[in-house]
Amino acid sequence: MKTIVVGGGASGMMAAYYRQISGNQVILFEKNEKLGKKLYITGKGRCNLTNDCEPQEFLNNVVSNPKFLISSINSYTPKDVMDFFEAYGLQLKVERGNRVFPLSDKSSDVIKTLKYALETAGVDVRYNETVVDVLAENGVIKGVVTDKKEYLCDNVIIATGGLSYASTGSTGDGYKFAKSLGHTVTELRPSLCGLNLQGNDFKELQGLTLKNVKLSAKDKKGEFYSEQGEMLFTHFGVSGPLVLTLSALMNMRKPSDVTISIDLKPALDGQQLDLRVLRDLNAKINKEFKNSLDELLPKALIPLVIKRSNIAQNKKNNSITVEERNKLVSVLKGLEFKVASLRDYTEAVITSGGVSVKEVNPKTMESKLVKGLYFVGEVLDLDAFTGGFNLQIAFSTAHSAGVAEE
Ligand SMILES: Cc1cc2nc3c(=O)[nH]c(=O)nc-3n(C[C@H](O)[C@H](O)[C@H](O)COP(=O)(O)OP(=O)(O)OC[C@H]3O[C@@H](n4cnc5c(N)ncnc54)[C@H](O)[C@@H]3O)c2cc1C
Repeated sequence: MKTIVVGGGASGMMAAYYRQISGNQVILFEKNEKLGKKLYITGKGRCNLTNDCEPQEFLNNVVSNPKFLISSINSYTPKDVMDFFEAYGLQLKVERGNRVFPLSDKSSDVIKTLKYALETAGVDVRYNETVVDVLAENGVIKGVVTDKKEYLCDNVIIATGGLSYASTGSTGDGYKFAKSLGHTVTELRPSLCGLNLQGNDFKELQGLTLKNVKLSAKDKKGEFYSEQGEMLFTHFGVSGPLVLTLSALMNMRKPSDVTISIDLKPALDGQQLDLRVLRDLNAKINKEFKNSLDELLPKALIPLVIKRSNIAQNKKNNSITVEERNKLVSVLKGLEFKVASLRDYTEAVITSGGVSVKEVNPKTMESKLVKGLYFVGEVLDLDAFTGGFNLQIAFSTAHSAGVAEE
């Protein structure tokens, strides 16, 4: 059987490898001059290639359509991914949160390993060749057309990725192919990205990192996110680990309906915080309010907290009322900002939405509409939180499609 794989990223390489060793003749087309351009920038250049966890834990970290992945994650687990790379000579290490990296800390070593596996298996890799059309007749795959010529084959595996960081080659071609073959593509959105905020008052906080804060988010239906950790303010709004996770939960919501709230002192309840504030104010009883918060807050936050508390900054601490103190405590426990929008695909780690999984067989990744057509990786309507889970999605779905013809 002849298989054509479209795209030489994480999922395309893995699918091509397993197809070839399952006895197929595989051609992999990659539009770039090299394989895995996106893989190269993953994990800040270190590539967090999976998460060393059990399938159920993996599924808990998948945001869209986790049930669709039950079969493929159980037949190709994080442990299997680690075994694959180690068998091809890549030493690995496990870091905080079970994140798996190459021991060398170099994403290029992950790409080299996949490339070596492809060579060993005998996959025919064609560089600088872009697939421009996928051909089907009477519901059966016929072949592909590239910018060079037409190729006939029995199976086509679409592994073209999403829309984020388009400079790596992921320009959304797979969505176009899917639609032209009758597939539904669900709404696409940037995910695992920063959030633009409304208004201007966050701008004075640019560059401020907050550790051990609790970030919550609500929309018209109520609170849908609350987690403790780290975040930061930027020129556009907010980013950092907590915000990336939050962005992944925005796919069913209108961003401008969302308000975020930062609990700056999550370890203290309202009463404890009030006592703490009282102590700080009493320690400087004859000083002005604006000069009394430096023990409690990072410098950059003080002017905004004062503004939001509605306490005159020159007021003497000895004349601050209980009501004013209560308001201050409520600001410290819930500093609110309205979200304007998600950041752009140029900065998003992944794309949420994609080829509807309802039209794809979860065991094989084969289209239910076109025989011999497969979808793997980010082009599918699947996405997960950070931690190596997105690459695991790419590898597990690729494996399922790779061995489907065994
Ligand atoms: C900055 C950044 C950091 C990330 N870090 C991590 C991380 O540490 N861990 C993690 O799990 N995930 C991470 N991700 C997400 C992860 O990179 C993706 O989920 C994963 O690469 C998806 O794999 P894929 O094979 O589906 O798509 P891609 O890796 O995007 O590969 C698609 C390939 O198809 C090629 N292609 C597209 N169209 C055509 C065409 N028409 N013809 C021929 N070739 C074509 C492209 O050139 C590309 O090489 C990160 C993403 C980004 C942007």
